[in-house]
Amino acid sequence: PMLRVAIMGLGGYGTMVAEAMRACKKAQLVGVVSGTPSKVSAWQTRYRIPVKNCYNYQNFDEMVNNKDIDAVYVITPNGLHKDHVIRAAKAGKHVICEKPMAINAKEGQEMIDACKKAGVKLLVGYRIHFEPKTLEIIRMRNAGEFGKVMFFQGLSGFVIGDPKQWRLNKQLAGGGAMMDIGIYSVNGSRYMTGEEPVWVTAQETKTDKVKFAEGVDETIQFQLGFPSGAVASCLSTYSMNFLDRFFLTGEKGYAELNPSTGYGPIRGRTHKGELSFLHVTHQTVQMDEMAEIILNGKQPVVPVDGEEGLKDLKIIDAIYLAAKTGKKVTL
Ligand code: NAD
Repeated sequence: PMLRVAIMGLGGYGTMVAEAMRACKKAQLVGVVSGTPSKVSAWQTRYRIPVKNCYNYQNFDEMVNNKDIDAVYVITPNGLHKDHVIRAAKAGKHVICEKPMAINAKEGQEMIDACKKAGVKLLVGYRIHFEPKTLEIIRMRNAGEFGKVMFFQGLSGFVIGDPKQWRLNKQLAGGGAMMDIGIYSVNGSRYMTGEEPVWVTAQETKTDKVKFAEGVDETIQFQLGFPSGAVASCLSTYSMNFLDRFFLTGEKGYAELNPSTGYGPIRGRTHKGELSFLHVTHQTVQMDEMAEIILNGKQPVVPVDGEEGLKDLKIIDAIYLAAKTGKKVTL
């Protein structure tokens, strides 16, 4: 059987996921949750969605009575994820939630607990965890081809446009660049090194205090220390373009991904040469793999569950604390 999915939040990324799902073999778009009736009718036509599978933000709890939807994919602004995920779980649906899973670790934990209590699975939209070049580097690292891992560098950033968008609103975004794009370096530092950080230091800089209000970070540099002694040095910013690069080096070799997390194609090379895998639309692979995880209990190479999302949130909480206090924070 196919995983029958309702998308909540028919914005830019929700649209990208819906288009990518057309090519899925194991997941199918069957429903929507939206506050905009004109979008609902456009999606009904485009994706042949029955009226009975269309909900808004007031009535989507009624999905509890709808046997034709297995999972809800929450693709709304970050600050709304917690509420949306918990309500979908209470309606008895598995939940896929976009990154960042929530705006802090406390919220993330509440979401995990709610899904556990409801007996549904919670996954986070980490599409890169299924990306072939990334997985090849992880395989090489596990096989010892880079030797002892020493250092990771993550650069994640772009120039943010419209100052009125939700991404620059503290309540809806939960922060600034770190929540939106810096999280890729946080997450990447973990799957590239294969370790969990034990300490964090961070420095914040702001060139535009009007565009980036209190609590909305423009640029943060951060460093992570790992149990093996390996270290990471990362940059998260809303003020520099073309920053999407991962670099991992060990005693015997290195790996570079540039671009590393964009919509693709991802480009990768190691000390052994260029990595060549055909580009497949990330969200198509992600949704097929997530269908296998939810329906058949498949174990992904790099986890995409709520606990995985929570690990990043704990590190982000620590980065914000370290930037604010100027002190090293132990995890
Ligand atoms: P967007 O602004 O394009 O879409 C957000 C949608 O949420 C809109 O349709 C909007 O109408 C709806 N919405 C519902 N309630 C709202 C409210 N109270 N205020 C504002 N909007 C409300 O944003 P997006 O780029 O689609 O991002 C949505 C989520 O997806 C974010 O969490 C973001 O981090 C994530 N995202 C992930 C990726 C990825 O590659 N995994 C890429 C882009 C975005």
